[in-house]
Amino acid sequence: MEWIKLSIPHLAGNENKYASEAIESTWIVPLGPFVDRFEQQLGQYLASSDVVALSSGTAAIHLGLDMLGVRTGDEVICQSLTFAASANPIVYLGAKPVFVDSEPQTWNMDPQALDKAIRHRREVTGRLPKAIVVVDLYGMPAKLDEIASIAAVYGIPVLEDAAEALGSSFKSRYCGLWGKYGTLSFNGNKMITTSGGGALICPDQESANRVKFLSTQARENKPYYYHEVIGYNYRLSNVSAAIGCAQAEALSSRVARRRAIHQRYVDAWKSNPYITVHDNPSGDFDSNFWLSTILISPDAALSPDQLRSELLRQCIETRPVWRPMHMQPVYADAPYYGGNVSENIFNSGLCLPSSSTLTDSDVDRVIEAINQLLK
Ligand SMILES: *Cc1c(COP(=O)(O)O)cnc(C)c1O
Repeated sequence: MEWIKLSIPHLAGNENKYASEAIESTWIVPLGPFVDRFEQQLGQYLASSDVVALSSGTAAIHLGLDMLGVRTGDEVICQSLTFAASANPIVYLGAKPVFVDSEPQTWNMDPQALDKAIRHRREVTGRLPKAIVVVDLYGMPAKLDEIASIAAVYGIPVLEDAAEALGSSFKSRYCGLWGKYGTLSFNGNKMITTSGGGALICPDQESANRVKFLSTQARENKPYYYHEVIGYNYRLSNVSAAIGCAQAEALSSRVARRRAIHQRYVDAWKSNPYITVHDNPSGDFDSNFWLSTILISPDAALSPDQLRSELLRQCIETRPVWRPMHMQPVYADAPYYGGNVSENIFNSGLCLPSSSTLTDSDVDRVIEAINQLLK
């Protein structure tokens, strides 16, 4: 039986050609013409001229938080229901994460819990959190306007982790553009891939230049190596960027395909009593549906984990929803605000095969297998 995978790279056509060009031109070191071109393509798509290509999405979050001035001893608020890479860079900077629960509509940061967290941290520490990391999980935009207006009341900058949300939009504005900084990932399982890479969307050219400087070891403009601040080796390589240029050519069709796959799941289970497909809450939200996700009712014949094991036997790969950060041993001591929304999503959720490589009949095989198992 052929495997149906969760989310795998989808070649667009010109990857080999551009990567070969990069190698033949001997631009196989970081920086080079393909890095500029990849940044231009992303910038054109997003209508933002200040996108900096980096070695990973995690690196982008790290640099974004550094740019926001996060330093040792600061607190940073972060959505709990996410991948660890949203939170770990807070710790890299010597700061402390404070986790906030999700709301059930988008599965992303609950604006009310955020407000509560900010006020309580101010009470406890006498200071405001230094930054807020909001995530567009599985491609679904968070309630980005509400988050932004609460953040604005306290003057706290927002970093939008749009690693999974390239091509998603909220109120007709792309995800990644809603915070002071926005981050993208081009890891192998994301919307498009550079075989490993990311990007930081900056508010202006000056900060983009600063990010380029910091991501290439923060060398001051002198003939010898001279450093006034701590830098990083986080720039994307020219070969990776060449692959990214080919991938970016197909971005719109990749988004369209993932949305079509999601719609097929929605149509199949519209009136199913055991399955709720996680869908756009209203006209404001336009997810790329990087991963299609479902909630399974406790009355169903199998639990999400049993279903996952049974599907695996049929060569269908599914995955549990991210386990919230406040439920991770490594973050056991971090403060947490909210209830059990993210925990419930973790307990009853499942991520379904969503690769843009999947055919309609692949998706139908997944639907049929799940229908049989939950009968
Ligand atoms: C993938 C991902 C990242 C990290 O990106 P990498 O490129 O793998 O470092 C960060 N946040 C979220 C929500 C992600 O899904």
